[in-house]
Amino acid sequence: MAHATFTSEGQNMESFRLLSGHKIPAVGLGTWRSGSQAAHAVVTAIVEGGYRHIDTAWEYGDQREVGQGIKRAMHAGLERRDLFVTSKLWCTELSPERVRPALQNTLKELQLEYLDLYLIHWPFRLREGASKPPKAGDVLDFDMEGVWREMENLSKDSLVRNIGVCNFTVTKLNKLLGFAELIPAVCQMEMHPGWRNDRMLEFCKKNEIHVTAYSPLGSQEGGRDLIHDQTVDRIAKKLNKTPGQILVKWGLQRGTSVIPKSLNPERIKENIKVFDWVIPEQDFQALNSITDQKRVIDGEDLFVNKTEGPFRSVADLWDHED
Ligand code: NDP
Repeated sequence: MAHATFTSEGQNMESFRLLSGHKIPAVGLGTWRSGSQAAHAVVTAIVEGGYRHIDTAWEYGDQREVGQGIKRAMHAGLERRDLFVTSKLWCTELSPERVRPALQNTLKELQLEYLDLYLIHWPFRLREGASKPPKAGDVLDFDMEGVWREMENLSKDSLVRNIGVCNFTVTKLNKLLGFAELIPAVCQMEMHPGWRNDRMLEFCKKNEIHVTAYSPLGSQEGGRDLIHDQTVDRIAKKLNKTPGQILVKWGLQRGTSVIPKSLNPERIKENIKVFDWVIPEQDFQALNSITDQKRVIDGEDLFVNKTEGPFRSVADLWDHED
């Protein structure tokens, strides 16, 4: 595929405008696997780093800590309306009657009155207590239209300001767009130079759906070590930046918001210092040419049952689009 050139977009924009008119801050703090340290990371990010965007999920098991961090940051003088908080509806809650109670539980854990963004975490419904990998009967039918209607109702009732999805394919987004009264404001996907996923990015842009890039540094244990990638390292040295900053900036220059996770105060602060410089075109294209394109978060352990289905391979999960 020809290199996508997105260098003119998102260069030094500190936020992106969503279809709803709300703004999403371009860099947010990821909180997956942050555990009991999430509160400290959130306070550091907001108060010392200047972050205004926090990404969490019920499934991360750290919403209480994230909520405590937000509360402490607000005691330091911040208003709720200055923050953009995202959470996600887990797979066991993907039936229409479970959507609102799940959101209410999330708001309670976070000690918030509303979310800025509520996302469907994965487009697969799991039975409560499902095994990893799933046994026969653990992956259930997903009523996408019914669930989306309930997401729309949460938005109408101002419990969430925007709704969106994660881990969708073009096929699934097309299906959703076929019945949606409210178009998803955001599609959150794995994206980094080792998994550009240009196809989804282009489809979302065409449909004015903002993309947030998750695992922008190649993710955590078992992920892809992009921090020590030769190309990333060479460009970092040349521009006098860190590899983390190059990876964040690459995402911004593609027009996506980016949510790096860190528990380390110095790295938290470093990852958002990306607004007063650019990756020159030639280096940007070198990052776009990294070979061995591969997802890190492919969903296999959660949703694939090779013998019983309904999804027998990773390719099945992603609608054979990769
Ligand atoms: P990231 O790509 O953000 O990488 C995080 C890892 O990089 C950690 O090990 C961190 O260690 C390290 N790190 C952070 N900053 C630097 C730096 N400047 N230099 C070197 N190493 C650094 O991984 P995630 O998979 O956590 O993705 C980010 C966020 O995206 C998640 O936390 C979550 O909020 C979201 N997400 C959403 C998914 C979805 O399905 N919607 C799926 C996966 C992620 P340390 O903490 O020690 O700094």
